[in-house]
Amino acid sequence: TTHKLQARVVKVWDETKDARTLTLRPGLNWRGHRAGQHVRVGIPADGKHYTRTYTISSPPEREDDCFTITVKAIDKGTISHHIVRNIKVGDYLPIGLPQGDFYLPDAQPIQPLFITAGSGITPAFSMINSLIAQGRLPDTHHIHYAPHEFDVVLGKELKAMDRYNDRYHLHLIYSREGEDPSRNRFSAAQLDALCPDWKDRDVYACGPPSLLEAIEQCMTEAGCIRRLHVERFRAPFTEVPADAVGGRVRFAQSDVETDG
Ligand SMILES: Cc1cc2nc3c(=O)[nH]c(=O)nc-3n(C[C@H](O)[C@H](O)[C@H](O)COP(=O)(O)OP(=O)(O)OC[C@H]3O[C@@H](n4cnc5c(N)ncnc54)[C@H](O)[C@@H]3O)c2cc1C
Repeated sequence: TTHKLQARVVKVWDETKDARTLTLRPGLNWRGHRAGQHVRVGIPADGKHYTRTYTISSPPEREDDCFTITVKAIDKGTISHHIVRNIKVGDYLPIGLPQGDFYLPDAQPIQPLFITAGSGITPAFSMINSLIAQGRLPDTHHIHYAPHEFDVVLGKELKAMDRYNDRYHLHLIYSREGEDPSRNRFSAAQLDALCPDWKDRDVYACGPPSLLEAIEQCMTEAGCIRRLHVERFRAPFTEVPADAVGGRVRFAQSDVETDG
């Protein structure tokens, strides 16, 4: 491994049937994160070494020198399943230092609106908890999508935050429930209904590519795209042009050549 820094797994907590929070105690040379940042984690599995990126779901204000990552096992995912099923207390994982520019500005954001879905909850969860811990939570709306109520990652904590903080307004949307689930999808009309002043807010969004595209389109049409801040867990697929002809591809390290 090229990683020097390691973290010890001190707690594992099953959030839902396919999502797990790991509490990690980093070794020396760790430096604190900004709420919303992520970390690269090395995962040994089946005799190989993999690296994946996970947002730090806990706020920097946490006092026990530990941090958490919350991982959702995705369909056909190699490592997320392994983390959710097999990582145990006492394991050591190589980690990088916190990185990323998806965080709140130091100056008070005017009025944030978080739009998240699935495991995309993690940066928002860290940011909102950080603002609460600092006693400077502004009027905040949060729209979160999950297929069903029992799928909401960190759902109990979100509901408790909603209950105990007058300035935090949580809107949970279950995208596969109701008579016509397609009506639960993100739309400008839905935004108007849940958060009428959304055009005046700083929007922090994290979720699957389709949701992020819909938000981008909506905010572009409303002329407020500059207020949108996005974190992507997956790169969007690029359309292959119809006239693409391919070519020879050479892998520099292995010196293997093939048709692309
Ligand atoms: C900045 C950042 C922060 C993140 N934070 C979190 C977080 O807080 N929580 C979280 O759960 N995840 C987070 N992720 C996602 C995480 O890094 C992993 O991508 C995720 O856990 C899936 O890993 P995997 O090994 O299970 O999936 P992989 O095996 O890497 O597969 C990923 C996806 O690609 C598809 N795929 C794989 N191979 C191919 C192929 N050859 N062709 C087409 N499609 C393919 C799979 O079907 C799957 O949908 C974050 C990612 C980034 C970049």
